[in-house]
Amino acid sequence: MKEFKNFINGEYVSSASGKTFENRNPVNNSLIGMVHEAGEPEVVAAVAAAKSAMEGPWGKMTQSERIKLLDRVAERINERFDEFLIAECKDTGKPHKIASHIDIPRGAANFKAFSDTLANHPTEAFKLDTPDGKSAVNYGHRTPKGVIAVISPWNLPLLLMTWKVGPALACGNTVVVKPSEETPATATLLGEVMNECGVPKGVYNVVHGFGPNSAGALLTANPDVRAITFTGETRTGETIMRAASVGLRNISLECGGKNPGLVFADCDMDKAIEGTMRSAFVNCGQVCLGTERIYVERSIFEEFVSRLKAGVAKLKLGQPEDPNVDFGPLVSQKHKEKVLSYYRLAVEEGATVVIGGGVPEMGAELNAGAWVEPTIWTGLADDARVINEEIFGPCCHIRPFDTEEEVIALANDTKYGLSATIWTENLSRASRVAEKMEVGIAWVNSWFLRDLRTAFGGAKESGIGREGGTHGLEFYTELKNICIKL
Ligand code: NAD
Repeated sequence: MKEFKNFINGEYVSSASGKTFENRNPVNNSLIGMVHEAGEPEVVAAVAAAKSAMEGPWGKMTQSERIKLLDRVAERINERFDEFLIAECKDTGKPHKIASHIDIPRGAANFKAFSDTLANHPTEAFKLDTPDGKSAVNYGHRTPKGVIAVISPWNLPLLLMTWKVGPALACGNTVVVKPSEETPATATLLGEVMNECGVPKGVYNVVHGFGPNSAGALLTANPDVRAITFTGETRTGETIMRAASVGLRNISLECGGKNPGLVFADCDMDKAIEGTMRSAFVNCGQVCLGTERIYVERSIFEEFVSRLKAGVAKLKLGQPEDPNVDFGPLVSQKHKEKVLSYYRLAVEEGATVVIGGGVPEMGAELNAGAWVEPTIWTGLADDARVINEEIFGPCCHIRPFDTEEEVIALANDTKYGLSATIWTENLSRASRVAEKMEVGIAWVNSWFLRDLRTAFGGAKESGIGREGGTHGLEFYTELKNICIKL
């Protein structure tokens, strides 16, 4: 039986309480192993290890020495690619085809991209004339914040965790990671890589467990944690923000979305269909940037709906290792119940089910897994809960629109503001509409096309702060001004 232990000060540690919980494979609900739940002693030990590593060899390293080590971490993840791939696919059920393309390579790249950016980032400098006729020089100097808590979700476990750990370490901080209780494997495996690469003990720590009354809440309440970076649901973000207010600790929150896709009649229909197939259904719809609301100009509405339906009908569901499979199960039984409750609600709210809406017949070996059908609806009123609440499943509602003004208003009529995806071949329209979207990222004729040097984050209830490129510097470092009188 596999065990997932906490990783503290360079060592794998069981829970003093003896408490463990199950980690199950959503493909067939089989038991992968038991996870050691961190209690107060483990969380305190992890934060203490991270704090003393700041004062030890890690804190004394130059930026270029740190960057060399992080480059090595990226290389080592790639050398152990298959182990990371299998661990990630067992925890999430996602097809190898997707994880080998997105999760693992991008998870590794996160250790390289930020260190390259930081190495080349200047700080400001000003010369000031002083009243005595002389002058002073001011210059900016960045120092690490200290111990950073990284709290991550289950949908892209390695990628979203390293997206924060990469820049945090590149800036000289140390981290305590609390991965999702659903997906403990790759964060645990990364501990081995850190040791193999010679990253000093205590720089990277992992505590396992849940949120409230468990490792998550214990970690965010620990006063030696100097900043908290979180990806997950908006409601959890609010709880974390309250915890961070004690001791005025900084937060970076990347939260939920209910993102619109806007399809204009002047789009390239092939591109729009191909892109919407991905934005609505890839990773079984469990992508924060996914488009659960699609608005299509009326003259092409019927064609768009029927072509998207045909695309969904062709999706191949099955075992992750099958290279022809493009669609896996949801992450857990709990999430399956949530998504199915929205499938029922859609019908109660008066939706026309274009395709899907239920549980697929997967055969005896897989029926116990967390499978749901990819689903398209039309015909819902704009105030339907299905159109306004984040489902985080493989589903979308498609609604016709008549004018640009109307679709801009519809797209922005949400408490969320993560992303918007616009399909048009008219460049003037593209930039005009993109500028009006109340979101952190607007894509035109593409989706999930990410340049790691650019800002990433959400507007409205989708988050606070921006990470990516040099934008993360504001969060991961303390900017000090040094003023020298000459
Ligand atoms: P979640 O909020 O339930 O959990 C996220 C993490 O927070 C987990 O590790 C969980 O254990 C921890 N947690 C929960 N309660 C806590 C508490 N009180 N204190 C400390 N930690 C706590 O989210 P999830 O279900 O894992 O992920 C799905 C959500 O994440 C969706 O809303 C999705 O949109 C969002 N998401 C956002 C982005 C983004 O970049 N904006 C990316 C991916 C996912």
